[in-house]
Amino acid sequence: MHDVLTWVVVVALALPLTAVVALTARRLLRRTLGEARVRRRLALFPERNPQPVLSVSFDGRVRYANPAAHRLANGLCAHAEVAKVLPPDLVDHIGALLNGGRAEDRWEYLHQSNVLQCSVHCMEDLGVCHVYLKDLTAQHIAESLLDHHSLHDLLTGLPNQRAFNERLAGTLADGTPTAVLLLHLDRFRPLMETLGHATGESLLGAVAKRLTGLMASLPGGAVHRFEGALFAVFCPHLTAAARLDDLAAQVKALMRPAFHIDGRELYFTFSMGASRAPEDGDDAATLLRRADTALQHVKREGGDGFQRYFPALDAQAVARLELEHALTHAAARGELTLRYQPQMRISDNRMVGVEALVRWRHPTRGEVPLTEFIPLAESSGAIIAIGEWVLRTACERAQAWQAAGLPSITVAVNLSPRHFRSPNLVQEVQACLAQSGLAPRWLEIEITESAAMHDIELATATLDRLKALGVQLALDDFGTGHSALAWLRRFPVDKLKLDQSFVRTLQSDPANAAIVRAVITLGRELGLVVLAEGVEEAGQLARLRAMHCDQVQGYLFSRPLTEPQLLELLAGLPPEDTSHPAEKRGELHEHPTARVHPLRP
Ligand code: C2E
Ligand code: MG
Ligand code: MG
Repeated sequence: MHDVLTWVVVVALALPLTAVVALTARRLLRRTLGEARVRRRLALFPERNPQPVLSVSFDGRVRYANPAAHRLANGLCAHAEVAKVLPPDLVDHIGALLNGGRAEDRWEYLHQSNVLQCSVHCMEDLGVCHVYLKDLTAQHIAESLLDHHSLHDLLTGLPNQRAFNERLAGTLADGTPTAVLLLHLDRFRPLMETLGHATGESLLGAVAKRLTGLMASLPGGAVHRFEGALFAVFCPHLTAAARLDDLAAQVKALMRPAFHIDGRELYFTFSMGASRAPEDGDDAATLLRRADTALQHVKREGGDGFQRYFPALDAQAVARLELEHALTHAAARGELTLRYQPQMRISDNRMVGVEALVRWRHPTRGEVPLTEFIPLAESSGAIIAIGEWVLRTACERAQAWQAAGLPSITVAVNLSPRHFRSPNLVQEVQACLAQSGLAPRWLEIEITESAAMHDIELATATLDRLKALGVQLALDDFGTGHSALAWLRRFPVDKLKLDQSFVRTLQSDPANAAIVRAVITLGRELGLVVLAEGVEEAGQLARLRAMHCDQVQGYLFSRPLTEPQLLELLAGLPPEDTSHPAEKRGELHEHPTARVHPLRP
């Protein structure tokens, strides 16, 4: 019994002990197995690493290279040994690390045309280095493309304004005398609008090519494209006025031959402005601004020219700003007046209308020439207020003459291109007619051929709406814009006003005479009245009459008149003989020249 008890006690004590021993053994086994797995996983780490990893001895021998390193070597050069793609100066770098007591280094190197990055980690105690390689070629290509794009114009491939500014600033910092030449293609915008964007872009490419060709003769020079049709030439060491003038003349000659774009032959001119350092400024912004001031001066003078900057140009720009400001208030301050130039019917030598021509008397400057203020008003937008005033005044006056019992005549009003495009134009004309009481048939609206061609769809729609009001429509300065001949049928116009330039050389230039004859014939075919502008000599009138031109306007008959002068003429005008066949368009009768009495104020 005693023995049994002893055994029971022994078993009772041994059971938990066995359980503890078994548990500990299981834990020990699990830990050992876990560590082996971790070790296996660690051993796989370089094998599975997608980045090339190598183990290299201090003398540059490859002890181990992971599959990614082999792939890299193979990718760069078929069947290449992995050692071949290591940096050629690897041993030098390792030596420097060991000598300097440093463990890590990283640098980029070229392998054939590839850019590789090498990172080295030296483990002095193990006598090896871990080398990590990275192919940066694609990243470098992307970076250099981005760099190129940020400094170049995509369309022409030329360096852009940012590149220009950097280059100019660098040169100025060295104190190198430098000139800046800005070039702008004249009439580029109308071309784009008429012939389309693609043609405009091809043209810019062709211009860039010609300008680049010129750079061979300009050491250190470079051509850049800024925006639109604006180019800039950077000219280090070229500051002598005469050499700059020569360069401008060269550019002009270079651009003179026709550009052949999309089967079209196009001719262009350039406006050019230049400034020089140090004479005109010693920082990039000032030089560019002054070259632009000179360029704008050329533009205002009609383009196709070159101007070097000089200080008075700034003064002119300020004066222009002041004039622009004064112009905005001219109509409201009562500084505008109208002159009226008679328009004569050739067949019976009768005044059938007048063209209202605006004049501006500036409070201190006196009368400002039209050539100065009309373009200024057009660019500043003041032309719309001026145009409204002219329209309203012309309608009021014409109605007042009729109300005074004078013979009815047409009054023609010039509409500027900008005013013609204004969305309120038709309502404005309607309101002027309504307020004045003038019957629409006595108002004639003149728009220039180029304004009509600016946006043909819009022009046709506006002309249709104006025509629906019952007013007369005339195409002014006909023959000087992009030839609108093909569009004439679509425009509901009543009259063509043949530009003075054709009349001036009518007798001396047979080609011009042929054009005049063709325009008159075409006008007759389309049932339009053709009026010749700028008739100054009896010989011109005789030619026009022989060509069956309908009407004339010019100094031969009368200069533009003040209202009292016109009223005197009107008072002497017999009432219109409505049975006269010439009333009907196209039925013209020959009249001896002697019946034309030049009317001079
Ligand atoms: P335009 O509409 O072609 O007007 C005819 C211009 O030729 C007028 O010049 C007139 O005086 C001038 N002229 C007339 N006969 C002869 C001649 O026999 N020989 C010469 N050499 N010239 C002659 P003006 O008054 O200086 O007007 C010039 C231009 O200014 C006008 O050309 C027109 O485009 C513009 N203009 C005039 N008044 C207005 C206006 O009220 N509004 C707008 N938007 N433009 C106007
Ligand atoms: Mg006119
Ligand atoms: Mg004209």
